Amino acid sequence: MIAPHRSLTTAAVALLALIWAAPTNAQEVKTIQLGKNAGSASSFHGTTNGRLRTFSSDNEARGIVRSVLAAMGLPLRFEVRAAAVGNAAAILQPDGSRLILYNTLFIDEIRARTGRYWSLISIMAHEVGHHLAFHLAKNIEDHEAELEADYFSGYILAKMGAGKDDALAAMNEIAADEATKTHPARKERLQAIAAGWKNGREGVNAKPDQALASVPRQRAPATIKTSRGISHRGSPRASADACADNLGTFYCVSSYLPTSGVNRSDYGPASLFDGSDRTAWVEGRTARRDDGIGEWILLDWQRERRVKALILKNGYLKSNRLFKANGRVTQLRARFSNGETINIDLQDSTRQQTLSLPKPQTATWVQLEILKAKRGAKYSDTAVTELGLRFE
Ligand SMILES: [Zn+2]
Repeated sequence: MIAPHRSLTTAAVALLALIWAAPTNAQEVKTIQLGKNAGSASSFHGTTNGRLRTFSSDNEARGIVRSVLAAMGLPLRFEVRAAAVGNAAAILQPDGSRLILYNTLFIDEIRARTGRYWSLISIMAHEVGHHLAFHLAKNIEDHEAELEADYFSGYILAKMGAGKDDALAAMNEIAADEATKTHPARKERLQAIAAGWKNGREGVNAKPDQALASVPRQRAPATIKTSRGISHRGSPRASADACADNLGTFYCVSSYLPTSGVNRSDYGPASLFDGSDRTAWVEGRTARRDDGIGEWILLDWQRERRVKALILKNGYLKSNRLFKANGRVTQLRARFSNGETINIDLQDSTRQQTLSLPKPQTATWVQLEILKAKRGAKYSDTAVTELGLRFE
C-alpha cells in the first residue's frame, strides 16, 4: 500500500512543481537602460549597469515585495521583474517609475544555500529599503546607503516575525569578507542588519498597531505648535495628529487632509515616503485659509545620527494641474532634538530638492514647521510629495 501512495504523492508534488514553475503570465520582455542620463540602480552586492533585459516576475517574487511593503502599511507601488542582474537591484527610471529586479538563478541559489525562505525576503527588503530611503535619487551607491538598506532589511524582517539568524542568513552567504568600492565588508553589514532587527523587535513590534501607516492619534493641543512649547529632549511625536513608520523612522504630522473611500490614507504621513509622486502629504487645515502655516512634519529616527541634508519634493506632484492648485512650502523651520533651529528656503519647483544644512546636526529627530507657503491657485492646502533625510 505504501508504494502506490508514495508514487502518487511524488506525482502530485511533480505536478505542483510544474504549476509553481510555470509563468503565470506570458514572459513579457522589456529593456531597461541604466547609467548616465538613464535609470539609476543600487544592487544587493556588486554593480549593475548597462542595458538590461527584464521579464515579468512570477507571483512569488511580487508576493514577497508586496508583503514587505504591507508590513509597513504600504501598498505595492514598485514593479517587480526578473532580469539579468547579478543578484537583485533597485532601479529608479527617468520617468520616476520604480522597479525591483532579481536574478532567478541567484534567488534559487540563495534559497538552496541558506535553506531559509527568510533569506529571499531579506534580499527583497534590502532593495525596498534603497527605494524608501531615497538612495536612487542621485545615483548614490555608497557604503552608508548599503548599511542603511541592510538596517532596513533587519528591521522589517523582525516586524514580519523572522528570527535574528533568518535576517542574517542571506548576507552571511553572500557578502565579501573585505569591503569593495561599492559595498562594505560582511562584518559591518551583518552588524547593520542585527541593529535593525533589534530595533524592529524591541520598538514597534511590541505595538504593531502603531506600525501601520497613518494611525490617527489624539489631536495636538494648540500650544504645542508654537516653537516654545516643544521640549528638546523628548520627541514631539506624542503631540502629532498621525504617524507612520518608515522602517524605524517615524513620520508624524500635526494635521492632514482627511479623505473618504479607498484613498483614505493618501494625504497622511505615509505618503511622504511611499516612493510615489502620485500621493502627497496635504496638511488639510482649510477653515482659516492659512496655507498650512504652523503645521509641521516630524521625522524621528530614534537613535543619534548626523543629518547633513533634507531631500524633498515640494507640492502635490500628481499632475501639473494639482501642483498649481495646491500650496507649496517656501520656508521651513527645522528644529532638531539637539536644540538647533535652522530656517530653510525651498524652491517653488516640481523638481526634487536637496536641502543641505549649513553644518551637519547630530540628533534623533527633526521637526519641520511651515513658516511660509505659496498659496495654491485653487486650494489653501499646502502639500509635500516626498521627504527624506541624508545622513553622514
Ligand atoms: Zn544595496
